[in-house]
Amino acid sequence: MKTKIAVANGDGIGPEIMQAVLRVFEANNAPLEYEFVEMGKSYFDAGHSTGMTDAAKATIENLGLLFKGPMETPKGKGVKSINVTARKVWNTYANQRDFRTLNGVDTVFSKAGIPINLTIIRENIEDTYGGIEHLLTYDVAVGRRIITRPGSEQVIRYAFEMARRKGLKKLACGHKANIMKLTDGLFLEVFQQVAKEYAEIEATDIIVDDLCMKLVTRPETFEAIVLTNLQGDIVSDLCAGLVGGLGFAPSANIGDNISIFEAVHGTAPDIAGKGIANPTALLLSGISMLRFLGFSKNAADIENALLYTLEQGVHTGDFGDKAIPSSNTNAFTDAIIANLGRVPAGGGVYSNPDFETKEQKIQPLKNKLTATKNISEEMVGVDVFVESKIQPAALAELAKTVLTDNFELVMISNRGTQVWPTGSIYTELVNEYRVRFEKKTDRTVTQKELLHIAADFSEHIKVCSAEFLMKFDGKIGYTLAQGQ
Ligand code: NAD
Repeated sequence: MKTKIAVANGDGIGPEIMQAVLRVFEANNAPLEYEFVEMGKSYFDAGHSTGMTDAAKATIENLGLLFKGPMETPKGKGVKSINVTARKVWNTYANQRDFRTLNGVDTVFSKAGIPINLTIIRENIEDTYGGIEHLLTYDVAVGRRIITRPGSEQVIRYAFEMARRKGLKKLACGHKANIMKLTDGLFLEVFQQVAKEYAEIEATDIIVDDLCMKLVTRPETFEAIVLTNLQGDIVSDLCAGLVGGLGFAPSANIGDNISIFEAVHGTAPDIAGKGIANPTALLLSGISMLRFLGFSKNAADIENALLYTLEQGVHTGDFGDKAIPSSNTNAFTDAIIANLGRVPAGGGVYSNPDFETKEQKIQPLKNKLTATKNISEEMVGVDVFVESKIQPAALAELAKTVLTDNFELVMISNRGTQVWPTGSIYTELVNEYRVRFEKKTDRTVTQKELLHIAADFSEHIKVCSAEFLMKFDGKIGYTLAQGQ
């Protein structure tokens, strides 16, 4: 029985490396059937705002699995990245990337005899990748960073399950909760909660800057790391660098219904059409996909052939021993095919439980919505963001004119630093302030009253936006200003 998957060739070198990988699959008799879908730059150019045809979308949703080459998103046309959109729309919430030392791919670590074998699980949907950004004034741009409890739990649980399946001893959570107390704080809180269900796995947390330093100085001490989206994006490319670059790093975007396997490098326009691209990253992603589909014997055979080929020193122009002439894409692929059935030094790979094999294609009938129940909440105030060029004390006087008996003016900040009632004359200002109104402790206020304050203030000043101040289960749900 063959499994049918959707395949998108991609742009630039995409078709060349996809053809190479499918040739290896064919030589290995991998039980796959392909439905090629129309996605990528030319479909943006043809007027499809999402970069894919409706038929492509329907096929991918129906088959539940997309194997894709790199794709180019046209710049300056205001369209969103096709790669990010695909991950988000189809809720592929966990990005798994496995990094390990490959014989034949020299790095400073391989030369020093330091083995690397680590997995990064990156949250794949939320964070600044929501792309919700605004210019509040001509000078001030802000972006929303969305970290949610259900989204964090989904990816963190996936990371622990993956660690358990692989028999890993440790899972670290990389974060910056010391600075981003509510967003990264929530991610870390969920990590610590979920960790309690996996007592056999040592769960640690590490601040992301320290993590980067330790990954470069002692990469062998890490087994698996889970991170939020942007930090995970950066850290996973750092890890690709540790094992020889993006050309050697597979990537799987896993969701409950749809999953996407792709190479993480781009379309390499500088070498497109020359037939010299390295198909290794896409092949490694294809090997992960075979495992995910339950074809672990095929995956192991192809992986062994690839590792054996690399070990023999066969290489494309972008890596390897310069003393050995490089092979073009076709010759490199032929070498892998010729080596099917061979195993690399050390006995090769036989089973590698990278993924839980599960039946995909559960067609949901409506959008799933998850929310924590039975949480008490209270409105305690409003932050009003305003455009102004006046000094903080004068702004405070103006703000006081809109106060009603229920409220007090608590604080004014500029770029997150308190500038009223106390502050430093050395704090430099831009033309956007946050003015915080809080209810008096013994009062109860309504949402309408809070909106009224902002509306009344708008008669004196340009209001850019407003954000309610909430308490959930008695805990404040907003940060204090620096210096408050
Ligand atoms: P790139 O990865 O395409 O190229 C960077 C460098 O690496 C180039 O010198 C290129 O020749 C080389 N390179 C990349 N892949 C290679 C391979 N398989 N074999 C040999 N050499 C390889 O990055 P870029 O130039 O920043 O991006 C080009 C385009 O790709 C952009 O339009 C970008 O949006 C897109 N992109 C797509 C994806 C994706 O589809 N997931 C990811 C990143 C970039």
